[in-house]
Amino acid sequence: MTEHIDSVSAPDFADLGLSAKVLSSVKETGYNSPTPIQAGAIPAILQHCDVLGIAQTGTGKTASFVLPMLTLLESGRARIRMPRTVIIAPTRELAAQIAENFEKYGKKHRLNIALLIGGVSFDEQERRLERGADVLIATPGRMLDHYGRGKLLLTGVEILVIDEADRMLDMGFIPDIERICKLIPMTRQTLLFSATMPAELEALAGQFLHNPQRIEVAAASSAARTISQYLVKSDKKPWDKRRVLRALIKEQGEYLKNAIIFCNRKRDVGELFRSLTRHGFNVGALHGDMDQHNRMTVLENFRRDKLQLLVASDVAARGLDIPDVSHVFNFDVPIHAEDYVHRIGRTGRAGRSGTAFTIITPNDAKAVEAIEKLIGEAIPRFHQAETIAANQAESDAAAAKSSNKQRKAAGAGPGAQADPTVKSEKNRNSGKNRVNKAHIMAKAERPERQQPVAEKLSPAAKRQPKHSKAESNKILGFGQDMPAFMRIPTQ
Ligand code: AMP
Repeated sequence: MTEHIDSVSAPDFADLGLSAKVLSSVKETGYNSPTPIQAGAIPAILQHCDVLGIAQTGTGKTASFVLPMLTLLESGRARIRMPRTVIIAPTRELAAQIAENFEKYGKKHRLNIALLIGGVSFDEQERRLERGADVLIATPGRMLDHYGRGKLLLTGVEILVIDEADRMLDMGFIPDIERICKLIPMTRQTLLFSATMPAELEALAGQFLHNPQRIEVAAASSAARTISQYLVKSDKKPWDKRRVLRALIKEQGEYLKNAIIFCNRKRDVGELFRSLTRHGFNVGALHGDMDQHNRMTVLENFRRDKLQLLVASDVAARGLDIPDVSHVFNFDVPIHAEDYVHRIGRTGRAGRSGTAFTIITPNDAKAVEAIEKLIGEAIPRFHQAETIAANQAESDAAAAKSSNKQRKAAGAGPGAQADPTVKSEKNRNSGKNRVNKAHIMAKAERPERQQPVAEKLSPAAKRQPKHSKAESNKILGFGQDMPAFMRIPTQ
């Protein structure tokens, strides 16, 4: 059964069948009415139906399963090593966020929640399992590790939730999911959530869900309507892209409360993070190679507005619940069109408005075409930023000229280079010198352009000094003006 509840007017939370305890937590949270995915999924879950929820992040998807699960868990007790419910998530951050949701809405429930994620010691996780988990939240690999060590029995699981299934597919987790589905009794209730529904997932759902209620809150692969999307042209060199990005950030001014900037590769996350830091932006980085503690700290600082910008890779940022992100920048066009939907879904969450800029180079034409096909609309170009970037390039050039003059006036040798790491006191303190600083940094990012011409010549060319015509006509010594006494022959 497919329920398109996009346009259905939202009922009240009290009409959905949730328990009094859960309703009072929701009230404390301050939500006025359920979101469409909640209005569709909550009653179905409470009736013990399997659910196939097609909803992007930011639609209130997490509460759509957490709230009814809390209600159902009010009866019954957990047994040693036998969790009652299992939630599988693709990344540690997403798993941790789901756990936070249980803590938030389940304050009055005194449930034992076990979070099994990688990068954290097995011991504490085992202790949690020993105590009997009402809710087990895990990434697939770590959960199967515990199972393999004999610390986990899956025969008592009543509800299995598979969250962000399309990301699991992208990350190659489907065999793990299939294995987990086979280890849990068929009598369970299965809930599968995904932003998109490619054929492989339809097949998985067909195999492991029983007569599911299909609840689709927006067309599969569509982006939230509250997001203004733009494409911004750039040359393909990384420093050009960085220049465009900086111009965009500055242009957005106070409209930019905070932003996530996506790169395709971990290496580029680090590089862009360092560049933005050098340019004085308040920025953090998040990628898969960072240890769990660092990732959590960066995320927390971003959530608490201690960091304004977060440079991230897809895997690290998937499913993050940061409610109030005003902007998303795609520093790179995502390789898989579906990632575009996930990335920009970080903004415009829960009905708020958001802005997403994608920097495109001449190499990205095909990828952009695939994205536009997927979302079913053309993304407008943001011309303003190009003008701003061009202006910035001009002021960079002007600043270069004037700083060269200044250097000459200060008696610096012709080959002298400004040390990008050394800022004058004036530069450090004056906002007016931003362009100058930007120029210095831009030069630092382009070392090959700073190379003095002589260094580029071959050794042979260096040995044979070339003189221009003007140079060979140069007057040497006294020239024709040699004093007469010097012409007197010496004996
Ligand atoms: P999710 O799609 O689960 O990542 O949720 C996105 C955001 O929406 C989270 O910050 C939730 O706290 C918030 N949210 C969830 N349900 C509601 C609701 N009924 N009304 C307003 N905000 C909500």
